[in-house]
Amino acid sequence: DYGRSEVDPEVDEIIKKEKNRQFRSLELIASENFTSRAVMETVGSCLTNKYSEGLPGKRFYQMGVNVQPLSGSPANFAVYTAILKPHDRIMGLDLPHGGHLSHGFMTAKRRVSGTSIYFESMPYRLDESTGIVDYDMLEKTAALFRPKLIIAGASAYSRDFDYPRMRKIADSVGAFLMMDMAHISGLVAASVVADPFEYCDIVTTTTHKSLRGPRGGMIFFKKDPVNGVELETAINNAVFPGLQGGPHNHTIGGLAVCLKHAQSPEFKAYQRRVVANCKALANRLVELGFELVSGGSDNHLVLVDLRPLGMDGARVEKILDMASITLNKNSVPGDKSALVPGGIRIGTPAMTTRGLREKDFVVVADLIKEGVEITMEAKKLVSGTKLGEFTKLVTSPDFPLKEKVES
Ligand code: PLP
Repeated sequence: DYGRSEVDPEVDEIIKKEKNRQFRSLELIASENFTSRAVMETVGSCLTNKYSEGLPGKRFYQMGVNVQPLSGSPANFAVYTAILKPHDRIMGLDLPHGGHLSHGFMTAKRRVSGTSIYFESMPYRLDESTGIVDYDMLEKTAALFRPKLIIAGASAYSRDFDYPRMRKIADSVGAFLMMDMAHISGLVAASVVADPFEYCDIVTTTTHKSLRGPRGGMIFFKKDPVNGVELETAINNAVFPGLQGGPHNHTIGGLAVCLKHAQSPEFKAYQRRVVANCKALANRLVELGFELVSGGSDNHLVLVDLRPLGMDGARVEKILDMASITLNKNSVPGDKSALVPGGIRIGTPAMTTRGLREKDFVVVADLIKEGVEITMEAKKLVSGTKLGEFTKLVTSPDFPLKEKVES
């Protein structure tokens, strides 16, 4: 048996480079984290060789769980497969307002995700003046659209969802209520944000974001029938044999290790730090004159609106990446273009794992400010050009601000 470097030196080299990048850079992508050695060992263990199909013996808790979904989007699709018929109606948060593709995004020209191809989707949105979900509008639209499923949860929303309100709206039209807590499941596990379990019929999640586990998905469901549907049977059947074959046992092993850790006081302290660090970051950004969507954060991420500075997220993402600071460009409410969106999303889970504290996130905010200023200078150098032209300039070896960026 040969090791990776002998079998495939090219892949080996790529992984070494990526490891070095992860070690050197400031990782501020809100959906990323550094999982533990214990999880990595388990994911790379002999469980990867093992096939198994079906489910272990029955357990009796109020909320059941299926740990076999291969990731977050397949988990969501399994829920839809379980409780909806083709072309049934759903309502999720609009993608440009922070929602996720798998919640039913479509454009005027194209049904982009499988969810919008197989189901009829009417998004709800934020109130653009506050940056908070417009629950009044959701209520009015739901009364007209009569969805069968309402989805809470987001990829870029820095506030708690109002689960009691969403429960009321779902009940008023007889809809299921699902929460996709992919981004915040670590925070939910440590009770540092509002708890969706009390109000939702179904809760889905990825396992590799704030929860800090292996890449995978989980679906929690109420044990008692909802709207006449036995969720346990319907969801388990949708996962297998509906959509998947053999589960990834190595991932499930890694998830078990992660969930054991999630019960420790150390994990709870980590999640409290993720939120405290995010507040420190948000406060400093505001002090520095940045505008935040919704004005702040209750969780692990902030969304910065760069449009008041005449700047966009795509250019800032590019320059910061060159300075080994990784974060995402992100749409902000009212944006015209998804390719050149007006904001950036910054998350604290990964660097909190690396040991950064509140005072360090003040420095992170300062570095981001510097990056934005350099981006503004760079934009002036090629004023009036499109993103492609700008990228060419900043990545050319004689980019005049190269030294500044590197320092
Ligand atoms: N749901 C939400 C809210 C997400 O943010 C994401 C991914 O970022 C997903 C689902 C999809 O997860 P995956 O990429 O594992 O399919």
